[in-house]
Amino acid sequence: MRLALIGVGQAGGKVTEAFLEYADRTDSDIVVDALAVNTAKADLLGLDRIPVSKRLLIGTDRVKGHGVGADNELGADIAAADSEVVMDAVAGMPSHEIDAFLLVAGLGGGTGSGVAPYLAKELRRRYEEPVYGLGLLPGKDEGGIYTLNAARSFQTFVREVDNLVVYDNDTMASGTDSLAGGFARANEELARRFGVLFAAGETDGSAVPEQVVDASEIINTLGSGGVSTFGYASSPIERKRGLFGGKGRPDVSDATPRILALVRQATLGRLTLPCEITSAERALVVVAGPPEMLSRSGVEKARSWLEEATGTREVRGGDFPVPDADEVSAAVLLSGVSDIPRVKELQAIAIETQRSMREVSETADDRLSDLLWSGDGELKPLF
Ligand code: GDP
Repeated sequence: MRLALIGVGQAGGKVTEAFLEYADRTDSDIVVDALAVNTAKADLLGLDRIPVSKRLLIGTDRVKGHGVGADNELGADIAAADSEVVMDAVAGMPSHEIDAFLLVAGLGGGTGSGVAPYLAKELRRRYEEPVYGLGLLPGKDEGGIYTLNAARSFQTFVREVDNLVVYDNDTMASGTDSLAGGFARANEELARRFGVLFAAGETDGSAVPEQVVDASEIINTLGSGGVSTFGYASSPIERKRGLFGGKGRPDVSDATPRILALVRQATLGRLTLPCEITSAERALVVVAGPPEMLSRSGVEKARSWLEEATGTREVRGGDFPVPDADEVSAAVLLSGVSDIPRVKELQAIAIETQRSMREVSETADDRLSDLLWSGDGELKPLF
C-alpha cells in the first residue's frame, strides 16, 4: 500500500518521520510523499527527514508561529482559513502513485487535534483515494484538558475519515527513560508494526508471497467509516549454521504452530486500542518472516482462529516474505470495532472536565471582585 503521509502537529510530524525512517531502513516503497503541517515554527524546525519545502507553517496571521497552546478549536479555525496551503502541497504530489492518504495526529494537543479532522474533510472532498487517520490518544495521566481535546477531536476525526486507526499512548511499553525517549521508542515501534502491514503487498519481486496482501485487501478491511485497532507479536527464529558464514536455513519444524501462537498473541495481547474483539466487523492478518517459515497451513489456521475469536466471517490474510529476517511476526488489524471501554472513559472524563471548566469560568469574575473589594470605597483605583 503506497501512502501519502501528512503529519499534523508535533506528534504527527514525529510519527511521520518514524515512518520515513522505517521505509528508508527497510528499503520499502510505502511512502510516496510526506508533509508536516504545524502552527508552531519550532516544532517544524525540530524535524529532520521531511524536506524544508514540505514543512508547512499555517496560521501565522493568528498565532505568529507560536502554536495554538492546546486550543483545538483555534486549530480547527486555522485549518478552515489556511487549508489551501496544504491542498496546494498535496496537489503537487504524484497522485497516480498514491493508494491512500494517511493523516497522523496526536489528539490531545491543539494543532493535530484541531487541524487533522478538517484536512481529512477537504481531502475526501477533493480526492477519490481513501483518507485514513492515525490518531494518538493521550495517556490517562496527561490531565483533563488533553482528554477533553482528544474526546472532541476523536468524535470529529472519525466522522471525517474513511477509517480512524487508533493508538492509545497508554499502551506504550513503559520504560524508565524520559518522556521524549519513551515517545521516540514508541514511534519507532509504531512505524515498524504498521510498516509490516503496509509493506506486505509492495514486494520488489525478490520474494513472492503465497497469498499477497495488496492495497485493495487493506482498503476493503478498513472499509468506509469506523475505528480500527492493531495488534502485533513476533518471535525470534533459530537458524542452522550457514555454509561459508552466510545466514543458514531456519528451523522450520514448528512453523505452523508458531504462526497460530503469534496471531493469537497479537490479537489477545496488547492492541493499540484495547477493545472487545467480538465487536470487530472485519479483520486482516499478515504473517511476515523468512519464506520457509511462512507455512500456508499456519496462515490458514490463524485465519480460521481469528474468524472464530472475533465472530466475523470477513477475515483476510496473507504472508510477507522477508528472506533475511531473524524473526517471524504477525500483524492483526481489527476494523469497525465498537466496544471500546477506553473511548467511553475518555468521553466521561471529557464531559466532567468541560463542566468543571464552565463552573470555574462562571465563578471567576465573582471571585476576582471579592478579591479586589476593600470595603465600601476604602481604596480607590488610580484612574
Ligand atoms: P500539537 O502539536 O498541538 O498537535 O500537540 P502534540 O502533538 O505536541 O501533543 C498532542 C498529544 O500527542 C499529547 O497528548 C501526547 O500524548 C501525544 N504525543 C506527543 N508527542 C508524541 C510522540 O512523539 N509520540 C506519540 N505516540 N505521542 C505523542
